[in-house]
Amino acid sequence: MRKKIVAGNWKMNNDLAETEMFLVDLKKQVFPENVIIMMAPPFTSLNHAFKSLREHPVELAAQNMHQSNEGAFTGEISAKMLKSVGAKTVILGHSERRAFFNEDSAVLAEKVNTALENDMGIIFCIGEELDDRKKGNHFELIKRQLSEGLFHVSDDAWENIVIAYEPVWAIGTGETASPEQAQEMHKFIRKTISESYSKAIAEKVSILYGGSVKPDNASEIFGQADVDGGLIGGASLKVDSFMKIVNSF
Ligand code: PGA
Repeated sequence: MRKKIVAGNWKMNNDLAETEMFLVDLKKQVFPENVIIMMAPPFTSLNHAFKSLREHPVELAAQNMHQSNEGAFTGEISAKMLKSVGAKTVILGHSERRAFFNEDSAVLAEKVNTALENDMGIIFCIGEELDDRKKGNHFELIKRQLSEGLFHVSDDAWENIVIAYEPVWAIGTGETASPEQAQEMHKFIRKTISESYSKAIAEKVSILYGGSVKPDNASEIFGQADVDGGLIGGASLKVDSFMKIVNSF
């Protein structure tokens, strides 16, 4: 059985007071036992959320980190710092990082290595732009993002890796991939992992879908054979919609 995961990616939303309001409400919820729930608030809210959620089954993730372990990198955050405030996992390669902060596969490969060295879990994001899909390049592009950014890792590293397939045209647009489109790509990703590693590894890795997942479309998407959960942006900012999605399996 693969792990089912729902992870909330808050992006650059919620200051400390807003985080606290969310947590007060979140802690009143009943959490299902069959789902791993993760939350990725901004760096500034991580430690507060971690301490506040100690008695609750919600894991903390960071939205990014630097590839170096320390040094003269003004404004950056290291894996060790993230772990020290309670983040177990880091999201790497989000399309907004790739597009707005010029993160290419070479730097992502370094970040992957640093996260693994520091024993952190990774949610590795991949996804095509609308133009790639229109031209029919989407499978090739996804394969390239995987092979250039991730496929240098050892077999053992896969224990700590989750993939998030997020078609860029579906992020924050209200336009979701259809359940069939999601399934088709998730199956392709699993096949690609199987070819480069092994069937056993491919069958074990959780592959999340991201891109305008909402309470009213989550169960159909999560019902697809190769979809193991979701990476949720906008709908993770309200406890009510986030929990509805968490309960959509
Ligand atoms: P969205 O974002 O749910 O707001 O589309 C998803 C993401 O970027 O992870």
